[in-house]
Amino acid sequence: MSEIIRLSAAALAQKLQSREVSAVDATQAHLDRIAAVDGSINAFLHVNTEEALLVAAEVDKARADGDTLHPLAGVPIAVKDLIVTKGQPTTAGSKILEGWHSPYDATVIRRLREARMPILGKTNLDEFAMGSSTEHSAYGPTRNPWDLDRIPGGSGGGSAAAVAAFEAPLALGTDTGGSIRQPGAVTGTVGVKPTYGGVSRYGAIAMASSLDQIGPVSRTVLDAALLHEVIGGHDPHDSTSLTDPVGALVEAARRGEVKGLRVGVIKELSGEGYQTGVLNRFAESLELLRGAGAEIVEVSCPNFKYALGAYYLIMPSEASSNLAKYDGVRFGLRVVPEGAPTIERVMGATRAAGFGDEVKRRIILGTYALSAGYYDAYYGSAQKVRTLIQRDFNAAFTQADVLISPTAPTTAFRLGEKLDDPLAMYLNDVATIPANMAGIPGLSLPNGLADEDNLPVGIQLLAPARQDARLYRVGAVLESLLEDKWGGPLLAQAPEIAGVK
Ligand code: GLN
Repeated sequence: MSEIIRLSAAALAQKLQSREVSAVDATQAHLDRIAAVDGSINAFLHVNTEEALLVAAEVDKARADGDTLHPLAGVPIAVKDLIVTKGQPTTAGSKILEGWHSPYDATVIRRLREARMPILGKTNLDEFAMGSSTEHSAYGPTRNPWDLDRIPGGSGGGSAAAVAAFEAPLALGTDTGGSIRQPGAVTGTVGVKPTYGGVSRYGAIAMASSLDQIGPVSRTVLDAALLHEVIGGHDPHDSTSLTDPVGALVEAARRGEVKGLRVGVIKELSGEGYQTGVLNRFAESLELLRGAGAEIVEVSCPNFKYALGAYYLIMPSEASSNLAKYDGVRFGLRVVPEGAPTIERVMGATRAAGFGDEVKRRIILGTYALSAGYYDAYYGSAQKVRTLIQRDFNAAFTQADVLISPTAPTTAFRLGEKLDDPLAMYLNDVATIPANMAGIPGLSLPNGLADEDNLPVGIQLLAPARQDARLYRVGAVLESLLEDKWGGPLLAQAPEIAGVK
């Protein structure tokens, strides 16, 4: 395997700046890796070869001319195919958008272009980001690089698998209920859901607008901070975008320190229903933090038991409304039935053919929850639960500076194992959903391998809204303590990745 693709984004950026490695070589190395392994992983729905190499060549020329460039200029990146890109297709993992090209770039894409980061391509996902395994993609599942018979998590399984398989040093994901963090956990990568409003959602195809957030996917905490600083910050195109500056995230990741920090273990998120290996690694990491001077306290969030139920009312309600625009007229697919096709019949036939089962299930659920007779009983109650969850967090953050839990209850399950059982699939997000419900930031980092199956386990850190820097600070400390314990990064412990040594 080329040495270049093993580098972290931070290390690669250094070599690009010193011109030890050219941006064209770095980009080509990743394209070669995609060509070599993506046939078995299926992380990419589209590979952007020409444009990526063109951007890389421009970076090399600018550097040779002595121009001052963004520190990440020339570092390639993969993008979840829920984020719109001019000049490349965007499918949202759905047949209904097959062949559609966005007329504009998402704000995060514009920022990647300004930093001159070559975009390697668009990554696979569950259709419209609905799922926890990437099996609901209309373009076939993505496979977990650690074990090709297992799921890479979801909905952002493509981004996580691409980064874990060394096809890209960085990727963008979106997280509505855990779609950045849970794939991170099961692929041994880092994933961050920023504070709601911290990264512009302009150009992220909406699933549930009050929960969606774009965020970084990487192999190290520092790399996530570097990318977060590129994509974060105010955007007038997104009315929910925060006006605060992004903050010194990279600085926080570089100068980690946890002495005197109060780390709150969420009682409700670490017992029943969690795999033994997940709990064992979690307990060990608490000891590591204690050893580094952190104070471990227990906090209780009694209303978290309602979070999953409330999420599966709010998310489908918002999604049913957001997805109403795929009508066979404005975007992508149009199916014209035989006979006299009225607009209603075209719409019906297009949606019947274009949407998969999970999307239809949620549209039906959401439409029902919002219907006149049931609105108060379902949607209204779920919004009240949301307030209770926010209050639980507020109370917990008076006792602790950051909160901690496993990211997902289990390691990667087998392809097909939960496909016919929506409820079992939904349970993967018990630990990640509360952060979306409250709008607070969350970071998942690799936490070793489970005893039972030698597969990656994740650990999640949560901080109050706007305190994303705190996550990078604590995350970087825990990451370095864990790497000392394992003698290097977790991905280096894998016997093989993407089916090769
Ligand atoms: N797995 C969750 C769901 O299916 C979360 C999805 C997401 O974060 N986009 O809704």
